[in-house]
Amino acid sequence: MRVLLRTVLPVLLLATLVSLPRLPVLAEPLRLSIVHVNDWDRLDAKDRAGGAAKIASIARYERDRVEAEGGQVLLTFGGDMLSPSLLSGFDKGAHMVALANAIGFNAAVLGNHEFDFGPDVLIDRLKEAEYPVLGSNISYKGKPGFPGAERSLLVEAGEYKIGLLGLTTTDTPSLSSSGPDVAFAPLADAAREITEVLRRQGADLVIALTHAVYQKDLETLRQVAGIDIVLGGHDHLVLVLYDGKQAILKSGSQGNFVGIMDILIDRVEGRSGPQLVWQPSFSMVNTLEVEEDPEIAQRVAGFVARLDKELAVDIGATEVALDTRRAAVRSGENAFGNLVADAMRAATGADAALTNGGGIRGDTTYAPGRVLTRKDILTELPFGNKTVTMRLKGSDLKAALENGVSKVEEGAGRFPHVSGLSFAYSGSKPAGSRVSDILVGGLPLDLGKVYVVAVNDFVARGGDGYASLENGEPIVDASSARLMASQVIEFIQAGDGVTTEVEGRVRRLD
Ligand SMILES: [Zn+2]
Repeated sequence: MRVLLRTVLPVLLLATLVSLPRLPVLAEPLRLSIVHVNDWDRLDAKDRAGGAAKIASIARYERDRVEAEGGQVLLTFGGDMLSPSLLSGFDKGAHMVALANAIGFNAAVLGNHEFDFGPDVLIDRLKEAEYPVLGSNISYKGKPGFPGAERSLLVEAGEYKIGLLGLTTTDTPSLSSSGPDVAFAPLADAAREITEVLRRQGADLVIALTHAVYQKDLETLRQVAGIDIVLGGHDHLVLVLYDGKQAILKSGSQGNFVGIMDILIDRVEGRSGPQLVWQPSFSMVNTLEVEEDPEIAQRVAGFVARLDKELAVDIGATEVALDTRRAAVRSGENAFGNLVADAMRAATGADAALTNGGGIRGDTTYAPGRVLTRKDILTELPFGNKTVTMRLKGSDLKAALENGVSKVEEGAGRFPHVSGLSFAYSGSKPAGSRVSDILVGGLPLDLGKVYVVAVNDFVARGGDGYASLENGEPIVDASSARLMASQVIEFIQAGDGVTTEVEGRVRRLD
C-alpha cells in the first residue's frame, strides 16, 4: 500500500503542478482525495483480498496522509451492501451498516440489493446509518425521495463546496423487492434536476454516486454536462475513464480493489471571471497486500462468531429420508435436489427451475425426523451459488435437459434437478437425443415459447456444459441475485418441515 502510493503520487504531482494555469490565485487550492468502494457485502477477506478491515485500512492511511497536508478525504460507497451475504440473510444487513459506520463512510448511494428485504427494512437500516445515503431518482408513495435518504448533499471542503447526488438503477423493481411504493426515475432526468439545484447552491464540483451499468453512466454524463465525476457500482467493473472534463471510477466489488481519485482543486481567474479547475490522479489499489485495520478486523471476527451461532439454528425437520451422497444426486431424481429446485422456483416465481446435482455436496443421509440446521444447508450448497432468472426459449430449455442427462453414465455433476417441469430420458440412446415427454407446468413443452427459468449462476454461465442457458435473456443476473442457500433455508422455515419426495419429475425409461 505504502509503496504503491509513494510510487504513483510523485509522478502525478509533477504533472499536476505543470498543468496548473499561471493566473492569480483566488482561493487556496485544495487536495481532495476520494476513496471509493462499491458492491461490498462480504465481511472478511477472501483469497487475501477485500473485506471490511482492508477497506478501513486504506481509508485510514489516506486520511492520515491527506489530512496531514491540510486536504480532505471523502470515503464513498457505490451501492449494494445489505445483501446477499449469508449473515445478511439472518440480520437483514444490519451488520454491514454497523461496519460502514465504524469505517466512517462519508456518503453512499442506494443499490438494488438495498431493497432485497423490502422498503420497510431499508428504512430501518437508514435510521442506523451514521453517514448520508443518497437516493436522488427515487420516489416513495408518489413523493420524491425515500425516507431516511437524501436527494442531494453539499459538503464543505476548504473554501470549496462539493455537491453530491445518488442514482440507482431503474431496473431495481425487477432485481429486488422494492415493491409498489417505490419508483425510480430515469437517471439523466434526476441527475439534471439535482445538478441544477446543487450548482444554484454554489457547488464547485458535482459528484454523482451511481449504481448502474457503465453504459448508463456514460449516457448520464453525456446528457448532464454539469456532472464532473461519476463514482459507480453495480456491474462490478474495475474502471477508470477520463476525457479531460468528466471522469468515471468504479472499484470492482467486495473491496478487492479500492479506487482512489486524488484531486487538486483550484479557483483561478479565467477569461470570463473566476473559474474552477480540477486535476485528478487515479490509483486502483489491489488490496491483496494491504494489512487489515486491527480494530475493524476485531469487529469482523465478532460478526463471524455470530454467523457461526446463527448457522447452528434449527430450521425444520425432514419427514422424508434425504440422501445427498455423490452418486445419489448425480444419477437420478432426488428428494433433496427437488427441495432445492422447489425453493429456487418459489423464491423467484419462475415457470421452472433447474440446478445441477454437482452443486449438492453434503455427501450424507438424513433419516426421517432429523432436524435440519442452517449449517446443514450450507454444507450441502457450499459454493455461494446464486439463483438467477432468465427468459429462455423452449428449444434451449430442451437442450439444457439433454445436456443434463448427457453424461449420466459417468455420474457427472451436470445431472439436473428440476421444479415446475418433468421429463423422461433413455440413458442408452446417444447423448443429445435422450430426452422426451417434457412438461412445463403440466403442459407439453413448446419449443418456440419463451419461459421464465430459474437456474444457479454457475450453469447460467454455461458451466457443466449448459451452453444453451447462455442463450437466455437475463432477468435477474448474478450481480443482482440472491444466494440459493438462503432461499432453501427460507423455504424450509416457511414450510412445515421437509416433505419433498421423488415423484417422477425425472424418469429413466430404460
Ligand atoms: Zn447492483
